[in-house]
Amino acid sequence: MKIHNFYAGPSILPQYTIKNTADAILDFAGTGLSVMEVSHRSKEFVAVMDEAQALFKELLNIPDGYSVLFVGGGASTQFAMVPFNLFKKKAAYLNTGAWSKKAIKEAQYFGEIDVVASSENKLFNYIPKGYTIPEDADYFHITTNNTIYGTEIKYDMDSPVPLVADMSSDIFSRPVDISKYALIYGGAQKNLAPSGVTFVIVRDDILGKMDRYIPTMLNYQTHIDKGSMFNTPPVVPVFAALQTLQWLKQNGGIEAMHKTNEYKAGLLYNEIDRNSIFRATVVEQSDRSLMNICFVMKEGYEGLEKAFFDYATAEGMVGIKGHRSVGGFRASTYNAMPVDSIKALIKTMQDFESNNK
Ligand SMILES: *Cc1c(COP(=O)(O)O)cnc(C)c1O
Repeated sequence: MKIHNFYAGPSILPQYTIKNTADAILDFAGTGLSVMEVSHRSKEFVAVMDEAQALFKELLNIPDGYSVLFVGGGASTQFAMVPFNLFKKKAAYLNTGAWSKKAIKEAQYFGEIDVVASSENKLFNYIPKGYTIPEDADYFHITTNNTIYGTEIKYDMDSPVPLVADMSSDIFSRPVDISKYALIYGGAQKNLAPSGVTFVIVRDDILGKMDRYIPTMLNYQTHIDKGSMFNTPPVVPVFAALQTLQWLKQNGGIEAMHKTNEYKAGLLYNEIDRNSIFRATVVEQSDRSLMNICFVMKEGYEGLEKAFFDYATAEGMVGIKGHRSVGGFRASTYNAMPVDSIKALIKTMQDFESNNK
């Protein structure tokens, strides 16, 4: 039976990435060695790191004056690294979910946090609007895609202060005007690579303005100065990330991905809205994530939740259980997810509806 991988992260990767990484595990770049056992200072791996950084810049159209870093620690380490490097007196945060809250919690240690708006009153099922970003904040932090709740900020906002974004789960899913951001970070395990590598895009001129001691590994400048080679980078995940970047380029780049993502998400949201048994948790079209599509049982059908889960599992759907804080279902539809898997899920929902009318 065909397996359809809807896991939220780690999650589906292109076959190209998996195949090339598997090959390199056995023989990396004709060295006769595994990519797991070569020095990160070898010329073969240095070439991988260089190409990954260059393709990252090319695909995202990153302007001059920005650095691309591949570091360890996950997006969760960035929650502290951002304030270590940017927080002087006060920072502003938008609270759109569990990941935003974790970022806020880490920053609170440094001083005053202005949470300009929150959607917690409705279990984070919308993106707050109409708030003002304080001009005296050192930076404004947003989570562009809320992996758990299925909401997404699908536009690049203007901010009077440096804009910092956690793009863990929507990087490379849509074109981004990088010039609007001072810093973008994310764990790679949603849309790029296996877990273990964290990407950072940082505008160089926002750094170097702190009086405090910044621990060496938590200082962005350390990694900029050494081209992400200050210490041993996550070699295998960086290799895999490069494969995904090559795959992205071969498949038309981000514009093409975005088109397909809109098509895929449109198909699934249409079915959820049409189906008499399910409803989408995010009502506002403009707030609906293209990457994580959340739905629950409609009123009166709650008792069928487990039955649908079992039915979908038997049909080969993997990873569709919603996050425990939301319940219901979540289909993560990252770049590598084929249209056929979306159609298979839709058919499963339609068959389940017919069987339970
Ligand atoms: C998964 C996720 C994180 C956490 O990433 P780690 O790499 O596990 O620390 C943070 N933010 C968002 C939006 C995520 O989806």
